[in-house]
Amino acid sequence: MLDVPPGVQRDFPLARLTTIRTGGPAEYFARPASVAELQHLLTWAAAAGLQVGVVGSGSNLLVADIGVRGLVMKLDKELSTIELDGLAGDRLSCGGGARLPAVAAAAARSGLAGIEFGISIPGTVGGAVRMNANAYGGALADVLEWVEVVSATGVERRTPDRLGFQYRRSNLLDGEVVAYARFRLRPAAEDQVKGTLADLRERRRQAQPSGIKTFGSTFKNPEDPRADGRSAGQLLDAAGCRGLRIGEACFSEKHANFVENLGSATTADVVALMIAGRERVRERFEIELEPEVQGLGPVDFPDDWWRE
Ligand SMILES: Cc1cc2nc3c(=O)[nH]c(=O)nc-3n(C[C@H](O)[C@H](O)[C@H](O)COP(=O)(O)OP(=O)(O)OC[C@H]3O[C@@H](n4cnc5c(N)ncnc54)[C@H](O)[C@@H]3O)c2cc1C
Repeated sequence: MLDVPPGVQRDFPLARLTTIRTGGPAEYFARPASVAELQHLLTWAAAAGLQVGVVGSGSNLLVADIGVRGLVMKLDKELSTIELDGLAGDRLSCGGGARLPAVAAAAARSGLAGIEFGISIPGTVGGAVRMNANAYGGALADVLEWVEVVSATGVERRTPDRLGFQYRRSNLLDGEVVAYARFRLRPAAEDQVKGTLADLRERRRQAQPSGIKTFGSTFKNPEDPRADGRSAGQLLDAAGCRGLRIGEACFSEKHANFVENLGSATTADVVALMIAGRERVRERFEIELEPEVQGLGPVDFPDDWWRE
């Protein structure tokens, strides 16, 4: 029997830690509150031969219905703080578990501009770094000074040029956890920054469904020239996927690239719907859509879905 560190829970349900609310439990689950705790857990997992996963806000995550073997962590306390930092007063230091909309709001209150786009992304700083999240032309790499990455082998500070940022991806590996990030921002009038936040919120409200269980964009916008500049949502819509339903999962009526959990969807329902949507787009346009959503645990995505 494995010797489990204090605070580690067994068979912890993960669905409620995701925005789509599907999937099974984690074999082991912990909420590290400091870098020391995080490192201790990572070292323990490595010694025990356990796989490691991290959940941020679970806003881009599909958890396997049968659950996740190994250790899953959610950053807590010290690892989710937001603090004004640096002599010039233009830096924000944030825990990897800090929520991006809260970072954008804190920056506005401090009269700092540059991270307003974060108001539209319902994820954490760590999840945003891993996914190279952006919105409305704002890019993480433009304002990120460095991240502190913790793994079983130690703590390492990395600048954006060492994070391998590409469209919705970075070079961070499973088992490499973003514990902190520091943003370099620009002084600006508080009212002006708050005005930008209000505009972005309104743009989102008009473009996307709200109050539904979803992980946002299901597929990446294709780079294939046959898409002719159309987004994944526009292609799915043209292929007749808006409102398409399998089990309790359905492509949203308001935004065809959003999968909605209508109530008691399983991850299997969501994957079956994704397969159906992807097939329709392939038949109609000969374009292979690539998923944006990340799997945690053995999610049954077909093998040929990712082009590495
Ligand atoms: C309504 C809605 C709108 C959205 N709009 C946008 C948008 O405009 N632009 C955009 O880019 N995305 C958008 N998303 C997707 C999502 O919010 C982003 O991808 C976000 O960055 C994910 O962060 P998270 O904390 O929720 O990560 P999770 O979904 O919890 O995890 C995603 C990946 O990041 C990893 N991860 C999480 N935390 C850490 C950490 N601390 N260290 C290392 N790895 C970590 C996970 O293991 C997983 O591989 C939207 C989602 C929703 C639901």
